[in-house]
Amino acid sequence: MCAMEYNNRVEMNGVTDLVCYNGYNNDSSTQQMKKVEENRGKAEERRVVAMQSAFTNILSSLGEDTEREGLLKTPLRAAKAMQFLTKGYQQSIHDILNNAIFNEDHDEIVIVKDIEMFSLCEHHLVPFFGKVHIGYLPNKKVVGLSKLARIVEIYSRRLQVQERLSKQIATAIFEALKPAGVAVIIEAAHMCMVMRGVQKINSHTVTSTMLGVFREDPKTREEFLALIRS
Ligand SMILES: [Zn+2]
Repeated sequence: MCAMEYNNRVEMNGVTDLVCYNGYNNDSSTQQMKKVEENRGKAEERRVVAMQSAFTNILSSLGEDTEREGLLKTPLRAAKAMQFLTKGYQQSIHDILNNAIFNEDHDEIVIVKDIEMFSLCEHHLVPFFGKVHIGYLPNKKVVGLSKLARIVEIYSRRLQVQERLSKQIATAIFEALKPAGVAVIIEAAHMCMVMRGVQKINSHTVTSTMLGVFREDPKTREEFLALIRS
């Protein structure tokens, strides 16, 4: 523990960070951070290597010649693509919202609609994608609007089911901002339905999570729904 004042308390998701201002200790914490980053990088590399050999197995299981020119680099490319599509596992809400929450006496619904979302269905490992609409009714605290899109990114870049995705986004905002309410609606097309199975090309799945006043008060919920339709 460093022997100086902790003059900045950041409370988020129930976690309290004590930020200390001391040159010496900051140096050592910078070095620690560097080490954490290094270790994270090495773990990532190991994961890519493991996925690469798994993709080689998949290709051979398909009866493909893994030595043919077009496929030589495919396992590595596929591993890197999978790493990108699931990068949300390496990110936390805390990293994103740190320093992005402000005190503000705004008491009208804040809405960000049509946030693009790309995710992978955890049952078939194929994409589902669409749009996310987020609304919240602040209670003294607001967050930078771009951060809402970042929250969507953190949870969608994982293996998901759409219902859980809606809930995780809403809960994260609810816990971080302690607003009067949060509403999240996701409209998405699932490639596992479009390309296989029932093959309904134009089918869309809509999920919603309503918390606080959006759940309790039909008028507030209606206002949100009207605003995202407008
Ligand atoms: Zn699926």
